[in-house]
Amino acid sequence: METLRVDALVIGAGPGGYVAGIRLGQLGKKALVVERDKAGGVCLNVGCIPSKALINAAKLYEKIAHGADLGILADNPRVDMAKLQSWKDGVVGKLSSGVRQLLKANGCDWRSGSARLLAPGKVEVQGTGPDAGKTIQVEAAHIVIATGARPMQIPGFAFDGNRVVDSTGALAFTAVPQRLVVIGAGYIGMEIGTLYAKLGSRVTFVEALPTILSGSEPDCVQVVVRKAKQLGMEIIVNGRASGWKEMGDHAVATVASASGERQIDADKILVAVGRQPNSEDLGLQAAGVRVERGFIPVDRKMRTNVAGIYAIGDVVGQPQLAHKASHEAEVVAEVIAGRAAEMDVEVIPSVVFTDPEIASAGLTAAEAEQRGLQVTLGKFPLLALGRALANHDSDGFVKVVVETESRRVLGIHIVANGAGDLIAEAALAIEMGALAGDIAGTIHAHPTLPEAIMEAAKAALGQAIHIQNRR
Ligand code: NAD
Repeated sequence: METLRVDALVIGAGPGGYVAGIRLGQLGKKALVVERDKAGGVCLNVGCIPSKALINAAKLYEKIAHGADLGILADNPRVDMAKLQSWKDGVVGKLSSGVRQLLKANGCDWRSGSARLLAPGKVEVQGTGPDAGKTIQVEAAHIVIATGARPMQIPGFAFDGNRVVDSTGALAFTAVPQRLVVIGAGYIGMEIGTLYAKLGSRVTFVEALPTILSGSEPDCVQVVVRKAKQLGMEIIVNGRASGWKEMGDHAVATVASASGERQIDADKILVAVGRQPNSEDLGLQAAGVRVERGFIPVDRKMRTNVAGIYAIGDVVGQPQLAHKASHEAEVVAEVIAGRAAEMDVEVIPSVVFTDPEIASAGLTAAEAEQRGLQVTLGKFPLLALGRALANHDSDGFVKVVVETESRRVLGIHIVANGAGDLIAEAALAIEMGALAGDIAGTIHAHPTLPEAIMEAAKAALGQAIHIQNRR
């Protein structure tokens, strides 16, 4: 059997693994990335990127359909789903091959295969794709586990790739389903449900908790709920879907909630109730790596309990976000290269690409108060912002959480279309320890959406210009 000797082996080529490979190459390490599927992992191939392509297309379609409000008259707009899917696949394909090129350009090797630890420093790789049938052994002083996570299943709704699908299936529909039932109204359910509602599906959400998007600020969520209702989406909270059956040409799901049990017709059922770590079948036990409830515990240098074995990304725990994985990847590469790096960040921003988007960085008021901090809030509604009105998109607000005494910015929470881009300023401000006055005193170009962040910071200081300040 062929044996490869490298400084570092990275298992998985998602936004964690491929970034680790690139950075290891840059740092002069002989590195190898092993991936059983495509470069870019879930995020690039069947997650973040394809969903944003479809979400953007659905937004465009909705805007055209409602263009008459602005005097833009387009008769009979329709969706050509086959064309939309092939455009989306093109975007994904370009990015995935770009990842392979970047790895190569940085001197990092690639193998298509499934890796399994035999012992610390020793891994067997069974080839997949172009390398199918070939098994090799890799000896590596450093091993980085970046294997990600996969959708969780619930009883009564096994994925069948036809009626009952996960996010991968829902992003590959070849026709817009007439009726879509979405179980779980978290990140994935709300993003995909909203996009199909815009393309014409009748969407019903079944959420087990009393609220959708329970991790987000309640006042931000309220704005999204209002818009969801305008788009004709039905939201069943405190709901329990117990099973489904085929009836004629469609499925019927049984759902119980406070208002009793209902049968809901569906052409497709999307189950999006969270994602579980991919930590099985990796030989972790053989190598002595500790696993807790499926996740691999790591320290701030991304080290597991076994010397020379590291883990990054979704497989180490929440938040399961691509940008967190990529940052951990850069840390682990530097640690392997002997640099004094560690995971040391003030904030990990999050964005839910609903309509409007919800983006957060830092503490909420409730979290700050739990830590015994006294806070002052500054809130600025988009209705008072010229650019938002000109965009015909003025639902939402920016809220800044400021520590009352020091005036330090602790958190910024935004609900607005464009929030996903706006949050970068918030993350930078908090990371750099900005005071409310730093944001308020920075000239923001006019007319732009980021002015809302400046105005919210001014509002926290009682100095907002375009809204009445609280006395
Ligand atoms: P999630 O945790 O965001 O939401 C799952 C939802 O399902 C929750 O509201 C939960 O209460 C509900 N639920 C759980 N069991 C249920 C049941 N039996 N019946 C009804 N509802 C039930 O998980 P997700 O939407 O599957 O997404 C997984 C992860 O992927 C997220 O945690 C997120 O970190 C990541 N993600 C991020 C983005 C982004 O950054 N924009 C987009 C998609 C996914």
